[in-house]
Amino acid sequence: MLTLEEAQERILAVITSAAAGLPGIEKVPLADALGRVVAADVLAPLDLPLFDNSAMDGYAVRAADVTGASPEKSAALRCVGRVAAGEMFAGEVGAGECVRLFTGSPLPRGADAVVMQEDTQTDPAQSATVRVLDVARPWENVRLRGEDVKRGALLLAAGERLTAGRIGLLAALGFAGITAVRRPVVGLLATGSELRESCAPLGPGEIYESNRALLAPLVRAAGAEARVYPLVPDTAEATRTALDRALAECDAVITSGGVSVGEFDFVKSAFEQLGGTLDLWKVAIKPGKPFVFGRLNGKCLFGLPGNPISGLVTFLLLVRPALLKMQGTRATSLAAHPGVLAEPLVNRGDRRHFMRVKVDEEGRVHLAGMQASHALGALAAANALVEVPLRTTLPAGSAVRVLRWEI
Ligand code: AMP
Ligand code: MG
Repeated sequence: MLTLEEAQERILAVITSAAAGLPGIEKVPLADALGRVVAADVLAPLDLPLFDNSAMDGYAVRAADVTGASPEKSAALRCVGRVAAGEMFAGEVGAGECVRLFTGSPLPRGADAVVMQEDTQTDPAQSATVRVLDVARPWENVRLRGEDVKRGALLLAAGERLTAGRIGLLAALGFAGITAVRRPVVGLLATGSELRESCAPLGPGEIYESNRALLAPLVRAAGAEARVYPLVPDTAEATRTALDRALAECDAVITSGGVSVGEFDFVKSAFEQLGGTLDLWKVAIKPGKPFVFGRLNGKCLFGLPGNPISGLVTFLLLVRPALLKMQGTRATSLAAHPGVLAEPLVNRGDRRHFMRVKVDEEGRVHLAGMQASHALGALAAANALVEVPLRTTLPAGSAVRVLRWEI
């Protein structure tokens, strides 16, 4: 049986090569770009700010003219103009002069500081005179051209994901959209003759199918498009037909169920009959041991065990990194956050156990209910995984790495 790291390496190694089709690129308007991955480095076409401008409502001055100014000994300046945001001052500020400015007004030539309005006094009887009550250091209250972003600077490296802040920056630099990696299309198949669609009447021994609903949002959160396929009964032929169609229509296919050793487990054999190569089967983790990975014509098959928690854990540890790598994302693992156990975590088994936990706002880690691989009630209370090594008890108070998948 492979270790988790061996399995991860094998999968990711395939995805760098031409053996697994990378999804290509497309133009995306900024309004739709949240979460998208940029396909190429993005450089700043402009400086930000684009020109020296005022950070305050006030007056553009020459700092040398207000040296030593104070409420007792104000400096009198002649106001020679007014510049609203969006306007330019045609002239130049000379010695003893000032110009009325507002936040965002371009700094007139000749001025090297802005005195804020609160540090000045005006007299309606002498409307051209402004009394400055405080000193100004050179460039005080001036937002300098290029101080935030320099033209030509690297804004985003290929493989980085767009956040709201990054979208705002691109908009400020005049971008209407970006060249993004196309979202990989991921087919979701659920195998099992006992499975029924939600709302359908249940016969004896039948259950509602839940893995496609559980996995689709995780696929989307990993930047891919989830395409949900009809249920697949446990026959060799139905499994082959369903796999064949999904592999033709998608960049990658995730199946659930049918990868164990029972006589109703057809995923592996159906995939091989279609000409697929199985790169691995069985990973030494709990839950999720019978996970399968294979390739056919540059498409990947991820065969997840049917138990919902096993499917979730193998998706997070083995499929999500692959989906991210297909998009050129550099960091592919779940982010590990520090946490402290509020109660002991016990693994008596001989496989590494990825236990479902609830992390609170202080980083205290609580066990999220029963740890069986079918226990969706407990899963719904969890927001993270903690790995507990084989035959190990981690006592309360232990520092652990928490792998979060839900906020
Ligand atoms: P399997 O991996 O096919 O042997 O399934 C293992 C267990 O998970 C069985 O109890 C199945 O009924 C259950 N199961 C399999 N697929 C699903 C699914 N898509 N939704 C809910 N439960 C499932
Ligand atoms: Mg089954």
